[in-house]
Amino acid sequence: MKFCSNCGQPLVHKVTDGDHLPRHFCPACGTVHYQNPKIIVGCIPEWEDRILMCRRAIEPGLGSWTFPAGFLELNETIREGSARETLEETQAEVEVGELFVVINVPHVRQVNMIHRGRLKAPRFEPTRESSEVVLMREDEIPWDQIVFRTVLQSLKLFYADRAAGRAGFHTIDLPPPPRSVSRTDGNAELQLP
Ligand SMILES: [Zn+2]
Repeated sequence: MKFCSNCGQPLVHKVTDGDHLPRHFCPACGTVHYQNPKIIVGCIPEWEDRILMCRRAIEPGLGSWTFPAGFLELNETIREGSARETLEETQAEVEVGELFVVINVPHVRQVNMIHRGRLKAPRFEPTRESSEVVLMREDEIPWDQIVFRTVLQSLKLFYADRAAGRAGFHTIDLPPPPRSVSRTDGNAELQLP
């Protein structure tokens, strides 16, 4: 961030009076431009004993698999965002259920909030964002082709809960992967090779 979105003047990066972290501050108009983590929302849509998975038609992670998820928009709730992402990525209508895992990924400035979900009908199709959309049983999940560590962790917890016969709630923190194999694009974190 170089210029003030309020008045167009150059910004400085500094700790202002009474604060404890450096911020982008505009000396001309006095605006402090706070930056905060992005929220990723998603759900694991179920239909009978299967879940809806999408093969990504876009980067990052082109060709790998995920459940529907994406960035929360302004003016929407996390459930609304999860339903919207499911529709955009799979054309499926989903009843978004309870939140079941919150994943902090501080090194990429993200919080992921993943829900349980239930398809309203087994109707879905490929989209601009998904080259394939498939209902999968647990033994059909392509575990070695999952796009992000957040997605992998969510799926593991989802099936661990199912095996234990419970609908759990989890909060986990993902540390950075070893530097030599990490690839990040600033917004999303790619699964390790
Ligand atoms: Zn300004």
